[in-house]
Amino acid sequence: MDYIKENLDYIKKRIQVNTKEDVLLLAVTKTVEIDKINYAVENGITDIAENKPQELVKRYEVLKDKVNYHLIGTLQTNKVKYIIDKVSMIHSLDRISLCEEIQKRAKNKIKCLVQVNISKEDSKHGLFKEEVIPFIIKVSKDYPKIKIMGLMTMAPFFEDNEKTRDVFRDLKNLSIDIKNLNIENVEMKYLSMGMSNDYEIALQEGANIVRIGTAIFGKRNY
Ligand SMILES: *Cc1c(COP(=O)(O)O)cnc(C)c1O
Repeated sequence: MDYIKENLDYIKKRIQVNTKEDVLLLAVTKTVEIDKINYAVENGITDIAENKPQELVKRYEVLKDKVNYHLIGTLQTNKVKYIIDKVSMIHSLDRISLCEEIQKRAKNKIKCLVQVNISKEDSKHGLFKEEVIPFIIKVSKDYPKIKIMGLMTMAPFFEDNEKTRDVFRDLKNLSIDIKNLNIENVEMKYLSMGMSNDYEIALQEGANIVRIGTAIFGKRNY
């Protein structure tokens, strides 16, 4: 499993090369064997991410308090109850019905990022750019259990890195606009953007959470 340590060392170096900010390196553990996750944790990983609620619960049952858990995929309202007391942050807040359910189920405030679909690709989830500010204002007013901490996006794959860069820059600019509105109970502390193939560009454009799977653990076998 030495390659996992080597990959982590390499990624940490690339983070330092690309930004001066404090960056949270999220290890995306979907389909990864538990031994490998444990090894990554022994080598400094503090936070892991799953895109399916049931997988997050499985990880929690084994790893308990050893790590923080992030949900990075679509969250169906009927799954909220399974993860709400386990999750450290939800990266995929994207609709009011989900806010209703979180408000109903949460005992404490739940940290969330609003997922934005910058490129407007059908296959990507999230709110369109122009929907984000009205959504955040409503959440701030009506759902006190939800603490919005920033924004998340996924860039589609472009051959041209500059197009990827434009997506990340748009998200950064949107977060600045929101910050300037000083909305109550809303912080714009985190920009969760960048995956294995584009995290260096994301860091250059202001990411402070990167979500990395294959570049740590190798190719997934689905
Ligand atoms: C799978 C996944 C990642 C990580 O992808 P890699 O290319 O393996 O780094 C990041 N974010 C989300 C939302 C994902 O589903």
